[in-house]
Amino acid sequence: SEQKRRPFVLANWKINMEPREVGPYLEKVLPALADEHQVEVGIAAQDLYLSQMLAAAKGNPLTIVGENAHWEDAGAFTGETSPKALAQMGVEYVLIGHFERRKFFNETDETVNLKTLAALRNGLKPIVDLDEDLSAYGNLVPEKVVLAQLKAALDGVMADEMDQVTIAYEPTWAIGSGEAASADQAQEAAALIRQSLANLYGRDLAEKIRILYGGSVTPANGQNFLCQPDIDGILVGKAALNPEKFLALVDEAR
Ligand code: PGA
Repeated sequence: SEQKRRPFVLANWKINMEPREVGPYLEKVLPALADEHQVEVGIAAQDLYLSQMLAAAKGNPLTIVGENAHWEDAGAFTGETSPKALAQMGVEYVLIGHFERRKFFNETDETVNLKTLAALRNGLKPIVDLDEDLSAYGNLVPEKVVLAQLKAALDGVMADEMDQVTIAYEPTWAIGSGEAASADQAQEAAALIRQSLANLYGRDLAEKIRILYGGSVTPANGQNFLCQPDIDGILVGKAALNPEKFLALVDEAR
């Protein structure tokens, strides 16, 4: 029998959450995760909060995730986040190429690729976000766009680094819109992504890589995604700002 991929339930706080809200949120979530081993549970938060969160999560099954890291390890890049520093702080994962980074901060396939390589070089696990934004690709059909984004992001990533990589399929139109993809459509996209990973790296490796779905996931629809054969987790924005809803989604993944 094949080894099952461990489900990953990841909150993306973006720049929501005030400083005074961080502690109480974690105080609600951490006790509910005691002894959690079935599901990997993570929170992506702005850099300002990461030290506090890492300290609170120490010894607990909660993974703290950065939302962005630059493609250079150090240097004159005012306002950016060094992937080397993130790794040295003890952060394990970083989101790369989130839709909002692409849309509002001009990230391109090229910078997403450079940032993916920089994360890996520094021992950070990249969660590579594919947003299927058709506008960046003339009139290609969505399936072609998401695969083009995948290929571009992974250019130069070696097979022996791929066990560090997670893919997130988050169609632009589904993020923050209240209009999640249908479970069938998300599964179809995840299967295409896995097939493309198999073409690039071989079937065995492709079967080990986690593919997350994101975009208007809520406790009402989470299970629909989590039970799909090629969807290995969820990336949750708005709903995860509420710790009870976040825990409900973790429970659905168990
Ligand atoms: P949403 O955000 O759940 O609010 O749609 C998801 C994301 O941006 O990762």
